[in-house]
Amino acid sequence: MTTDTNLKAADADSAWKDDIRAGVRHVRDLASLPLSPAERSAAQEAAVRHKVRAPKTYLDLIDWNDPADPIRAQIIPSPDELVETEGELDDPIADHAFSPVPRLTHRHADRVLLFPTYQCAVYCRFCFRKESLTSIGRGYTRDALEEAFSYIEARTEIREVILTGGDPLSLPDKALAEIRARIEAIAHVRLLRIHTRVPVVLPTRITPGLVGALQGRLMVTIVTHFNHAREITPATELACRTLRQAGFVLLNQSVLLKGVNDTVEALEELCRELMYRLGVKPYYLHHGDLARGMAHRRTTIAEGQALAGALRARLSGICNPVYVLDLPEGGGKVPLGPCHIEAREGDNWRIRGQDGGERVYRDVVG
Ligand code: SF4
Repeated sequence: MTTDTNLKAADADSAWKDDIRAGVRHVRDLASLPLSPAERSAAQEAAVRHKVRAPKTYLDLIDWNDPADPIRAQIIPSPDELVETEGELDDPIADHAFSPVPRLTHRHADRVLLFPTYQCAVYCRFCFRKESLTSIGRGYTRDALEEAFSYIEARTEIREVILTGGDPLSLPDKALAEIRARIEAIAHVRLLRIHTRVPVVLPTRITPGLVGALQGRLMVTIVTHFNHAREITPATELACRTLRQAGFVLLNQSVLLKGVNDTVEALEELCRELMYRLGVKPYYLHHGDLARGMAHRRTTIAEGQALAGALRARLSGICNPVYVLDLPEGGGKVPLGPCHIEAREGDNWRIRGQDGGERVYRDVVG
C-alpha cells in the first residue's frame, strides 16, 4: 500500500469510531438531547432492561420538533415500554431452547445462527433479543466461539452460517476476518449470511478494510435492517454501493412497527427506495415479535395483512417483501399473507386477482 492509501484507510477507520464516540453511548448521554420530561425519566428506567446507544449520524436524522419522528421512535426509550403486557416473552422466538452450545442456535437442519457478539452499534427499542443483549451482553473473543465452530464442523448438513447478534458488523475488521476464515475452513459450509443494522445506523463503518475482511471463498449475503425511507441517505447509499460492488448480495428485513412504518405509503416508499436507490431487495416484513414492553409498537396480524395486501397490489415482485411471523417456541418464519385463494371445488380453485376479480383456475395435470 502507498502512504496515501494507508492514510485514507486510517481516516476511514477513525470516521466510524468518531461517529460512535460523538453519539449516545450511555443513558447519561441522553441529557444532551432535547427529550420530553416523560422520555427523560423513562430512559433511566427503560435502560436497565435494554441499553441505550446510537451513533451521531443516526441521531442526526431525528427531527426533534416531531414527537412522533420515526427514527426517534426506534431508539429513544418511551414511557410506554415500561408497561409489560401478558403474553410478551423474554425470548420470543426461542433462541435459547434451540441452542445446543453457547453462541449458536440450530433450529433448521441446514443452517445455524452464530452470535459472535451481543453488542450493537445501536440498541433498537423493539429488539426481540433485548433480554439476551442485556443479560448476556458479551463481546467477541475467539475462544467464546470455538465450541460453536466444532459443532458446525461435526454436522455436514449445515450449509449456511448466519452471523447475527448483537451486530456482527460492529466488530473490528480483524475479528471479522478471523470469523470468516474459521467458517470458510469448514468445507461443507456454502453460504455466509450477515444480519446487520450497521449500514443503516453507522454507514461510515462500511470501509475497504471491512469489505476485505469479508471477502473469501464463500458467497456472502448481507441482510440489512432498514425500517423507514428516512434512513436512506447519501451515506447509506454509499455504504450499500460499496457492499454491492464488492460482490455481496444485499437483502433487507424490516419490522412492522406502529407509529414508524405502519402505513401503506411509508412501506411503499421504503420498499421502492431500497430497491431503486440502494439496490437492496426487500426480503421480509416481520410482524412485531412478542418482545417485552412493545405492545405500543405492535400491530395486529389483520392490520399487517391489510398492509401486505395493499403493497402486493402496488409494488412489483422485486420490490415486495414477504410478510412473515417468526413463531414463538421456535416454529420458524411463516408467511401471513395475503392469500388470494378464496375456495377450492375439486380440481377448481377460485382465486382473487390483483384487480379484485375472481378467476377459476383448474389443475390440469397428466
Ligand atoms: S441492531 Fe439488531 S440486534 Fe441490535 S438492538 Fe437493533 S434489532 Fe436488536
